[in-house]
Amino acid sequence: MTMPALQGLRGMVQKDGRSWAMVGGIKNPSCAHLAPHPIPPHLPPMSLPNHPVYLDNHATTPVDPRVIQAMRPFWEAQFANPASAEHVMGRAVAEAVEAAREHIAELIGASVAEIILTSGATEANNLAIKGAARFAASQGDPRRRIITVATEHKCVLESVRDLAQEGFEPVILPVGADGLLAPEVLRAACDENTLLVSIMAVNNEIGVIQDLAALGAIVKQAGAAFHTDAAQAAGRIPLDVGEIQADLLSLSGHKVYGPRGIGALYVRRRPRMRLAPLFSGGGQERGLRSGTLPAPLVVGFGEACRIAAIEGLLDSGRIAGQREVFLNRLRTEIPGLIINAEAAPRVSGNLNLTFPGGVSAQAIMEGAPLVCVSTGSACSSAEIEPSYVLQAIGLEPAAARATLRIGMGRFTSPAEAELAAATLAAAWHRAVSATDKASD
Ligand code: PLP
Repeated sequence: MTMPALQGLRGMVQKDGRSWAMVGGIKNPSCAHLAPHPIPPHLPPMSLPNHPVYLDNHATTPVDPRVIQAMRPFWEAQFANPASAEHVMGRAVAEAVEAAREHIAELIGASVAEIILTSGATEANNLAIKGAARFAASQGDPRRRIITVATEHKCVLESVRDLAQEGFEPVILPVGADGLLAPEVLRAACDENTLLVSIMAVNNEIGVIQDLAALGAIVKQAGAAFHTDAAQAAGRIPLDVGEIQADLLSLSGHKVYGPRGIGALYVRRRPRMRLAPLFSGGGQERGLRSGTLPAPLVVGFGEACRIAAIEGLLDSGRIAGQREVFLNRLRTEIPGLIINAEAAPRVSGNLNLTFPGGVSAQAIMEGAPLVCVSTGSACSSAEIEPSYVLQAIGLEPAAARATLRIGMGRFTSPAEAELAAATLAAAWHRAVSATDKASD
């Protein structure tokens, strides 16, 4: 699509001001009955010339305006340290922190005393894995095997690998072409030496949902502790720590329309899961995570979880509709487009697409600079190496390099979905002709 055509589509969006209901005549039958979300006032309106379309909600989500509103007083008048229990201002902030903790706990079926606040899921994963291993070893537990999966986020894989230097035995299990860990593969790997198993709930590149209830049961049968990285799952699928028999579960604020820089680790109380802390300090968070709590971020995270618990399901339905709009358009324009791990259940906003025609994802992105998508997970997309997640599901490096990750979210409109698909398709056509010409 040429630039004027692209702006023309935006013009259609502009017609109804800041609302995105049924803009541009694009109707979406599967989500038409759902109330549209107003465009958050702090997001750039689509009517701006050269306004990008954001489809990278796995990397981070925009902060919901209701979250910003909830946080504001805690940046301004209510600035006290929540640990300052001697005075009224500290106690007021502590109350807000505890209310937020309750919302976080409710989202995953936990109790407030089981939520340890961290700086994000990276820290929560490190604390869960290293903390569990080190505590057990300090108590003379002879078990050394720590199992995880090849498609985990780097912070899980590296935490498990780091423990090899402390005498633990890392075991990295393969997944199938559908991105799923087969129960029999896990069963075969779990032995009496297994201390901990860490399996992500939803993958950050291919969006597939692991069957945690089935996998958790296997881990429990083996008598090991079970950790899940639920950073990409919270607010997108229902989560219940009891149902999945999790002892530890990691969350991130910025994947649920909350602020960046905050997260949490669920730590089971009954039976009690014991961890060694990563940091020495003032002993906040039940001695597991020293450091002054960032109250505004905690309050924002709590509000984001409260909204997710109420609206997550509605969001998923509407986002699935947006994804259909996007995919239908793209498939019409690009025969041979491949959806990776198509056979597996996946979160509604995710698509991981390999483009045909021998063109690189990089070339497509360069031809569609206003469409914000990625070639892999955010932290590895700057690397030249093709995604290890895609290689783990069997893609050759060349196919991995021709792959884009799409992440739609709460604030993606049908018009944006249509516009992004048309723009990417045009960029793909241009890249294919350029390649054809070069090889003539
Ligand atoms: N785990 C998964 C599955 C993720 O997608 C991410 C973020 O990309 C993380 C962990 C790290 O989360 P945070 O940015 O909160 O440290």
